[in-house]
Amino acid sequence: MGAALSPPLARLRLVIHGAVQGVGFRPFVYRLAGELSLAGWVNNSPQGVVVEVEGPPGRLQEMLLRLEKEQPPLAAIHSLEPTFLDPAGYRGFEIRPSLESGAPTALVLPDIATCPDCRREIRSPSDRRFRYPFANCTNCGPRFTIIEALPYDRPHTTMKGFPLCPRCLAEYEDPADRRFHAQPIACPECGPHLELWDRQGAVLATHHQALLETARALRQGGLVALKGLGGFQFLADAHNTPALERLRQGKQREEKPFALMYPSLEQVEAHCRISAMEARLLCAPEAPIVLLRRRDDDLSSLVAPGHPCLGIMLPYTPLHHLLIEKLDFPLVATSGNLADEPICIDEGEALARLGDIADLFLVHNRPIRRHADDSIVRLVAGRELVLRRARGYAPLPVLLSSPLPTAMAVGAHLKNTVALAVGNQVFVSQHLGDLETAPALAAFDLALSDLQQLYSARPEAVACDLHPDYLSTRRAQGLGLRVVEVQHHYAHVLSCMAENHLAPPVLGVCWDGTGYGPDQMVWGGEFLLVEEKGYRRLGHLRPFPLPGGDQAVREPRRAALGLLWALCGEEALTLDLPALRAFTPAELRVLAQMLRRGVNTPLTSSAGRLFDATASLLGLCQHNRFEGQTAMQLEFALEEEGEVIYPVTLLAGEPATLDWGPMIEALLADQRAGLGPGRISARFHNGLVEGILAIARLAGQEQVALSGGCFQNQYLSERAITRLRAEGFRPHWHQRIPPNDGGISLGQLVAAGRILAMEV
Ligand code: ZN
Ligand code: ZN
Ligand code: FE
Repeated sequence: MGAALSPPLARLRLVIHGAVQGVGFRPFVYRLAGELSLAGWVNNSPQGVVVEVEGPPGRLQEMLLRLEKEQPPLAAIHSLEPTFLDPAGYRGFEIRPSLESGAPTALVLPDIATCPDCRREIRSPSDRRFRYPFANCTNCGPRFTIIEALPYDRPHTTMKGFPLCPRCLAEYEDPADRRFHAQPIACPECGPHLELWDRQGAVLATHHQALLETARALRQGGLVALKGLGGFQFLADAHNTPALERLRQGKQREEKPFALMYPSLEQVEAHCRISAMEARLLCAPEAPIVLLRRRDDDLSSLVAPGHPCLGIMLPYTPLHHLLIEKLDFPLVATSGNLADEPICIDEGEALARLGDIADLFLVHNRPIRRHADDSIVRLVAGRELVLRRARGYAPLPVLLSSPLPTAMAVGAHLKNTVALAVGNQVFVSQHLGDLETAPALAAFDLALSDLQQLYSARPEAVACDLHPDYLSTRRAQGLGLRVVEVQHHYAHVLSCMAENHLAPPVLGVCWDGTGYGPDQMVWGGEFLLVEEKGYRRLGHLRPFPLPGGDQAVREPRRAALGLLWALCGEEALTLDLPALRAFTPAELRVLAQMLRRGVNTPLTSSAGRLFDATASLLGLCQHNRFEGQTAMQLEFALEEEGEVIYPVTLLAGEPATLDWGPMIEALLADQRAGLGPGRISARFHNGLVEGILAIARLAGQEQVALSGGCFQNQYLSERAITRLRAEGFRPHWHQRIPPNDGGISLGQLVAAGRILAMEV
């Protein structure tokens, strides 16, 4: 395997939905590919227009950006999903014949951000939709969140209660009109309207007056619960610390960053460092929350305490546009839920659950059929990485390179999704959240029945996690279907392979918080060799004890103590470190006793816990207020300083062990010498990446798949990618599907397909 200094050639695959057929789109793509000297093809398929181009990554990015900017005047893109793949060796560019065959599954489209035409209309005083918060057309508006059944016709949506007025009907029936056969269209005469309610549900104002009074309340530091597209959002002035203090208290959310909605791209650019690819994501029809590096802003310190990033989106419904242009300052726009519950979709439910938090409720009478949170993305190694896949993305299918048996998957437990496989399409549900509360379980049940009903699927099997105590596992067992249990980290790796169209053999590097191992240990720092039929655990991180088990997830100091115990036994108790000082002497005595006797101290190979322990050793964080917080703080503390790398040792065996012992010893020595946590964090990350390299050399597989929640860490991912490439490996990582447990359901389906295929 030779060294590669620049990123190798790649193939960019685009799946495009929208008004892109019969408007000169394919000749346009052909011309653009020619100008950029890219090889590949374009065609129409039942899944939309598919484009594949290959060449140097920089030019592929240019293709992506120009395709949107320069599209033919009559074209309108509703959804564009880019995936970077390994090159296929195309020569020249061709327009391929349309594919009529293949599964003609009717697609449920995601909700689409307000299009430029509708934005113009709501601002034009002469238009009949002037200031109308529910304007939409064929090219934009609600879809997934209002559809009750297929085929997608108005009587099958929550707009069925709003008969079209004669003028809307005329538009609906006119083939030359932008609203021809647009199911959710409405106008002030026949469509939904706004109301502003107080906490008791009394109507304070209606229609445009409700919007004006909401704007006034926000300017004065009010907290507003707004019924949006896929559910309620809390809105507040992002400069107003008292308002945000109340919001944090009400949501019992002490430190997790709040998402923001900015009035314009220009204002985002003034506050954040932003690349062309990031600007593209902000303005895309999917309109996700994009994680951006802050530059200089005057926001309240309560927006994202201690975070070098902000999660920012632009307005994506007419309601948001109309409201924020009255304000012209950034708003906190966070999910309208209580801690860990799914987002509220119904105004009665919102009053009951959020009534103690919000001062006012800006609601409307268009029912939301199912919730869809705002999606979250970030850029990793020049590619979009979807961290939370919901509004704008779900439930578009992931297209696989080969078909699967019809089956369901129930996912795992945290950040959960469920999924349905039909042929070579996998429909992954919107983000459902942690299955910890009754409302979350209800959303889980609804999503399961929804997917089957929408696609009239008769699953032959259901895939679930190997963990016997997950609620999702128990639900799967109650469905009356054949149950296929899938190891957690195997599912992670298969999901990464599936979206990157990788065939075995592949070395899967799967690092996350927790997953149930077949040996009943807590796995989470795994190296799995995925072979033709199954997988082998080639290696793992050196295990260490977690005093108190699950409690260590909330208290990184416990992980730190366990790590030190594994390293130096009783002597650990005598060390003078922030992690140990965080305990009272009495607590420390109890924990030491647990460690000595091995009571309630499971061993774990979890990479997430290793991050936790390290952050705790450095005094960065002793309590996890939300999942992954501590690991994130270690990433954020990082200061690059060139090539200083802590040593890790590879201990041969079946499986091999990657020993962090030398690394932690070097870390403690640096700490004693007074080195700051930023540089220690860099050396730690660098050491872990060399550990990945050591196992990759041992495995000798060219293809490496990086999966698991730890690879949400941009530095870890990008450094692993660079180093693997430099040594001739082909690293792959997630793009369309989250590396966290939101991707488990997809991997479970692929695993079930492999297991069922072996029986035939
Ligand atoms: Zn529109
Ligand atoms: Zn109308
Ligand atoms: Fe996981």
